[in-house]
Amino acid sequence: MDLFEYQGKQYFARYGIPVSAGGVADTVEEAVAAAEAAGYPVVVKAQVQVGGRGKAGGVKLAADAAEVRLHAADIIGLDIKGHVVRRLWVEHATDIAEEYYASFTLDRGAKAHLAMVSARGGVEIETVADEDPEAISRLHVDPATGFDERQARELVERAGLPEVAREGVVEVLEKLYRCYEEGDADLVEINPLVLTPDGRVHALDAKVTLDDNAAFRHPEWDAFRDIDELDERERLARSKGLQYVGLDGTVGIIANGAGLAMSTCDVVNQVGGSPANFLDIGGGANAEVMANALEVINSDPLVRSIFINIFGGITRGEEVAKGIVAALERVDIGSPMVVRLDGTNAEEGREILLGVDPGRLVSRPTMLEAAREAVALAGGARR
Ligand code: GDP
Ligand code: MN
Repeated sequence: MDLFEYQGKQYFARYGIPVSAGGVADTVEEAVAAAEAAGYPVVVKAQVQVGGRGKAGGVKLAADAAEVRLHAADIIGLDIKGHVVRRLWVEHATDIAEEYYASFTLDRGAKAHLAMVSARGGVEIETVADEDPEAISRLHVDPATGFDERQARELVERAGLPEVAREGVVEVLEKLYRCYEEGDADLVEINPLVLTPDGRVHALDAKVTLDDNAAFRHPEWDAFRDIDELDERERLARSKGLQYVGLDGTVGIIANGAGLAMSTCDVVNQVGGSPANFLDIGGGANAEVMANALEVINSDPLVRSIFINIFGGITRGEEVAKGIVAALERVDIGSPMVVRLDGTNAEEGREILLGVDPGRLVSRPTMLEAAREAVALAGGARR
């Protein structure tokens, strides 16, 4: 999960990384209120999950309420590389002597974490990386032993940071590593990490990507989920703990496992149909999960037929079948269903499904046959 800058800064603050006081705003008047609370001068910043906001006119300094109004009105609704700005972050402005760059990320190839520091941070970091990669010092961090002060010092010296900034940057790097490691992030990046004229080191931007596989131990991450950015179907699916991908065809797809879900989409396409969505119900599909999945698919107005493709492993065929039957009692399904059940106890499962009205549900022995049937029921193949 990618965080917005203001969320990233909240995360940084928990680990003691110095960030500025500020507030979020969805309207011009809220921006003024946030500015009054933060104290002038302020910086008004577009909250979109894409870099280069500064160059796109999404980051503006304001000396008073009138300027905040002007900039906030300009930035709200601004399209930055396809992301329309709906929210602002307004913080007390910082005086900048120098801009640095600092990050930790995962280097999968090296099976290690990668720390990067540069004395040439700011809006041109991409150019620096391309034209003068030597200007970014890199250090691999063994996840088993972690990152210590000695390594932080080595990085800071190699990056050629001035004496006055070193102590402060070393401190921020140690905190940033904790944020990355204990905070279960895949990426933490500060650009710019600034040195102020009075010698303080301060994070002016925050880019954080959290590792979704660790979400189970971070109930507090729920607050970061930008539910507004999801469409209605995805919201419903997520609230039921299902993995859902919305598409724009007519066949609704339920499968167990992301791989099978995707190959089901391919087969539907192959026989001339088009998927409306796909839903991965995962490994232990029981009646409850199946009923939830059907409920989500059923709420999608694009769906003309539903293709349930289950290859039983741990998930047993008769459990899936019982789930479908139970779901039919609970949810009023508007579209005809085609089921392909294979693997563990598939035979028993198909037996159970014979009890369902064939006008509502039919079984097909192979994925291809089932796909053809589902596409036919959805109104036939594309011309
Ligand atoms: P980005 O362009 O999306 O990376 O947005 P940033 O948050 O990094 O802001 C872009 C640039 O705006 C920074 O590199 C700074 O030069 C400038 N900037 C951001 N905050 C402040 C601030 O508080 N004071 C000053 N003087 N400049 C700022
Ligand atoms: Mn930045």
